[in-house]
Amino acid sequence: MDNKELWKTILDELEVEIPKTHFKSFFPQTKLIKNKQGRVEITCPNLYTKTRIEKDYQKQIKKIVDRFTKKDNQLKFSVQKETAKPTKSSLGPLFQKSKKQRGIGLSPQFSFDNFVVGNNNNLAHAVAQAVVERPGVAYNPFFLYSGVGLGKTHLVQAIGNATLERHDDLTVLYCTGESFTNELIDSIQSGSRKNTTQFRNKYRSVDILLIDDVQFVAGREGTQQELFHTFNELFMAKKQIVLTSDKPPKEIAKLEERLSSRFAGGIIADMQTPDVDMRTAILRKKAQSLNVSVPDEVTDAIAQNIESNIRELEGYFHKVLIHAQTKNVPLTKELVAEVLGADFATNKTEITPHKIIKTVCSFFALKPKDLRGKRRFKEIVLPRQITMFLLRDLLETPYMEIGDLLGGRDHTTIMHGEEKIQKLLAENTKIREQVNALRTQIGDN
Ligand code: ADP
Ligand code: MG
Repeated sequence: MDNKELWKTILDELEVEIPKTHFKSFFPQTKLIKNKQGRVEITCPNLYTKTRIEKDYQKQIKKIVDRFTKKDNQLKFSVQKETAKPTKSSLGPLFQKSKKQRGIGLSPQFSFDNFVVGNNNNLAHAVAQAVVERPGVAYNPFFLYSGVGLGKTHLVQAIGNATLERHDDLTVLYCTGESFTNELIDSIQSGSRKNTTQFRNKYRSVDILLIDDVQFVAGREGTQQELFHTFNELFMAKKQIVLTSDKPPKEIAKLEERLSSRFAGGIIADMQTPDVDMRTAILRKKAQSLNVSVPDEVTDAIAQNIESNIRELEGYFHKVLIHAQTKNVPLTKELVAEVLGADFATNKTEITPHKIIKTVCSFFALKPKDLRGKRRFKEIVLPRQITMFLLRDLLETPYMEIGDLLGGRDHTTIMHGEEKIQKLLAENTKIREQVNALRTQIGDN
């Protein structure tokens, strides 16, 4: 395993252990650059990230690294050095710029080749390929949204990498809404005109701008303004813009209308959670690319149990592989049950109607008697129907029984409530997120 793979594997495991928001803020641009005789060096994009990781996650990282390398390692964290900029003379007209010089922020591990396509993401995938084929022409902007861990970053990165492969002359810049914001703030704080001009040039001179998790800019006035102008300039010059977010443009709270309407002005595609066949396909592909032979019963068992998202799916897959390796036991479905069981089994048996009702109430700040009562305000009806739905979905509680639990309601009312939520789940992202969050909370405590 080379450094890159090792670090990816470690991150996959760390990711399921630590709060998601922390993981996303601190780890995306880290790299493991040295692993020699018990000395392991990890670089971070800036001092802040380095300090936070050192302080909060050093121990956890060490544990995983040690287990993996079977050594007691000494960890060193450093700040990435800016890569030297090529001088003008080194870029004579006879020399093509290399891919590295034409692409900023891209990680080669994300490609179309290792992106599995299924019902849940085929539209997004098709659009992404069309964008690579004819950047700035086919679909501009391309707005991609989905829940976490469903492949947004992978797909936009793949667009970037494939564009560099396909077109010798185009430049690509990948950033996140957060890094765009931070860089802008830095350039302003420096107080130097040169820096703000540099910032502008950097973002407005590329052929393809990829902004991942653009929802981060919402509510930030200065950043939104800068982004608005960046967007316009690129768009008018027929340069390609690709944006990702956790929601469609119109549903991003505190996003300026002028931005959300521009974001929605090209094509919007979403990605859903993958079904079990797709999850299995992803794991098999993953095993292939790691070059390990994993019996189907193992990939099947993991795919059947981890439904939430692909990142978690991969995280548990690694966990199982690591267990097999460290304990030196064969990869079997029993091992999967053992590894996942530690995290899941206890929770699953504990779900009760009471727990569902309690969780829904605390989620929506209501009392159980509100759910049982007769009041028909929207703020109560929806949580009540969600409760009906979850009681069916998680426990298959009979309609009559749900009726009793919810203040003596008729079974047709319950059936109607369940249907209503099913319908909303298909068309309303907010509800989908709320129900997913509730599912997790009910399963977790
Ligand atoms: P997001 O940006 O939506 O939160 P990511 O792109 O980071 O999700 O995906 C999480 C993990 O799942 C990554 O390791 C990614 O490579 C993997 N992944 C996501 N979608 C696919 C797919 N369709 N095929 C293979 N791997 C995928
Ligand atoms: Mg992402």
